Amino acid sequence: MLRRTGSIAGARYAFTDRYGGASTAPYAELNLGDHVGDDPAAVDDNRRRLAAAMDLDPARLVLMRQVHGRAVAVVDGPQDPAAPLPEADALVTTGRDLGLVVLVADCVPVLLAARRSDAVAVAHAGRRGVEAGVVPATVAAMQELGARPDRIVAVIGPAVCGRCYEVPRELADQVTAVVPAAAATSATGTPALDLRAAVVAQLLAAGVETIEADPRCTAESPDLFSHRRDGVTGRFAGVVVT
Ligand SMILES: [Zn+2]
Repeated sequence: MLRRTGSIAGARYAFTDRYGGASTAPYAELNLGDHVGDDPAAVDDNRRRLAAAMDLDPARLVLMRQVHGRAVAVVDGPQDPAAPLPEADALVTTGRDLGLVVLVADCVPVLLAARRSDAVAVAHAGRRGVEAGVVPATVAAMQELGARPDRIVAVIGPAVCGRCYEVPRELADQVTAVVPAAAATSATGTPALDLRAAVVAQLLAAGVETIEADPRCTAESPDLFSHRRDGVTGRFAGVVVT
């Protein structure tokens, strides 16, 4: 269920693993994504279990429809269950008792909170999000809500590592032209991308000085969902509670 928990600038956070849920293969067990072909009732059940584990009313979980872009949705309260989710790859709030959720299965989940500010955020940074700059856009949105970048604390969750994320050379060149720190070499010596290193570089460039990173690689950790390893699979979550 919750594999890594802690707090950043006073906000509780956790990353989930694949255990303790209601979904069956290939989504077993704790799939939190409702866009991957799993039974919606199982996903709802799993989200309720996540909320309970975070000691939060399930109605106070805030989700987004992630599209690999750089849009940041500012939220100030619980979501209307009848309304569509915001199409965005980052959520920012200064609201209280909300659980911001980012869903991943290899992409980089980033959780952020700022000291001496109520601003809290999550971001979803895959290859396209890194290129588009969703992480700097998230820091900018927090700044607009009163957070100083040098007081922001970021936690980067499990993601596919540079040795496992082999890509065609043209794609590697395209991304490293934007973020040189993304350059990596795969385990077999071919071009690859290190998205976590890219996110760290983007955070530092945006003025964020306090960065923790979970070293686990999704593709190498059987207890985490990995799209690269398994194709059709579930999504695990990074969640931060305000
Ligand atoms: Zn790896």
